[in-house]
Amino acid sequence: MPTQSKPRAYSVKAYATSGAKAPLGATTISRREPTETDVQIDILYCGVCHSDLHFVRNEWGFTQYPAVPGHEVVGRVRAVGAGVKKFKAGDLVGVGCLVDSCRTCPDCRAGLEQFCPEMVMTYGSADKHLGGGTLGGYSQGIVVTEEFVLRIPANLSAAAAAPLLCAGITTYSPLRRWKVGPGQKVGIVGLGGLGHMGLKFAHAFGAHVVLFTTSPGKSADARRLGAHEVVVSKDEAQMAAQAGSFDFILDTVSAPHDMNAYLGLLKRDGNLVLVGAPSEPFAVAAFPLIMRRRSFSGSLIGGLPETQEMLDFCGQHGITSDIELIRMDQVNEAYERMLKSDVKYRFVIDMASLK
Ligand code: NAP
Ligand code: ZN
Ligand code: ZN
Repeated sequence: MPTQSKPRAYSVKAYATSGAKAPLGATTISRREPTETDVQIDILYCGVCHSDLHFVRNEWGFTQYPAVPGHEVVGRVRAVGAGVKKFKAGDLVGVGCLVDSCRTCPDCRAGLEQFCPEMVMTYGSADKHLGGGTLGGYSQGIVVTEEFVLRIPANLSAAAAAPLLCAGITTYSPLRRWKVGPGQKVGIVGLGGLGHMGLKFAHAFGAHVVLFTTSPGKSADARRLGAHEVVVSKDEAQMAAQAGSFDFILDTVSAPHDMNAYLGLLKRDGNLVLVGAPSEPFAVAAFPLIMRRRSFSGSLIGGLPETQEMLDFCGQHGITSDIELIRMDQVNEAYERMLKSDVKYRFVIDMASLK
């Protein structure tokens, strides 16, 4: 049997961790030389998602090291394989949480690649080209098959568009799926990276939007970002005043918290959708659910067609993320600030700083 030749590879600079307790530091990683269907991208910006932090600290229990996080990538196409039709050198493009999938299963055929049993995440999946694990966007470059590369509308700031690739689609998708719109009262829980995009989208879709926050100091920002009302969730009287009044609540919180407090705020048939991903299980009481036929659901990023739809929607409506641009060597400090809920409202790494 002929032995398969190892694909050719080249080196790029990156930031990686060697273990759950190790900080991120400079390293060099391999990328495959672009194949016929690949797009080779020079990364300009990469957003810092709380999932990056959960992952590098092995909070979900499946991290393999070395780990290079980053799945909110915006960059410029350096070169394309001979068979690539949609992109050419110089295009401004994005890469989100997925870099491949089987393309044939019912989920892939429905454009819901995020549920494909063989989906390949941008980091933390098996790399079928080079072996080892896939390595993410805290790096100078990445090579991705054409079908998983997205177009960034030309009118958007490249840096402020980066968080759309995860925080954007993760909030856009459930708001669209459950048809949030005019006449509905919608809650967004947590004002971080996901939460601030949730506010912008729910507002743009015409709903009456209420932000729930543990940080009273974020109230003015929340209103500027699209909230019609702000509720400090630690204040029992403020929470009680909202009881039974919501059609839909989107929970973006990254840490354990009381889910029953939010289930009780839903109307009959209301839906609480979880996108936050703390590692600990929630205690969900039976009565708040069964007494008013409420639902408790989850949602995971979005498929490729919907991610492009979201980017185009953002282009048409001038929506981007509110960002704090950082150097690559500030990322460990940014993680500590994220843990203190001190993000306004997404850190984005300027990859020009990774020299
Ligand atoms: P983030 O920027 O750190 O924001 C999380 C926000 O949650 C904080 O700013 C804070 O808002 C609130 N919060 C934090 N600790 C809290 C606590 N103990 N109790 C109540 N509220 C608290 O994080 P992110 O990047 O938006 O990500 C949020 C979560 O979504 C993470 O778990 C991440 O892994 C997950 N995620 C899921 C998907 C998906 O597809 N489902 C995609 C991306 C990310 P306030 O200060 O306003 O309270
Ligand atoms: Zn993310
Ligand atoms: Zn599939």
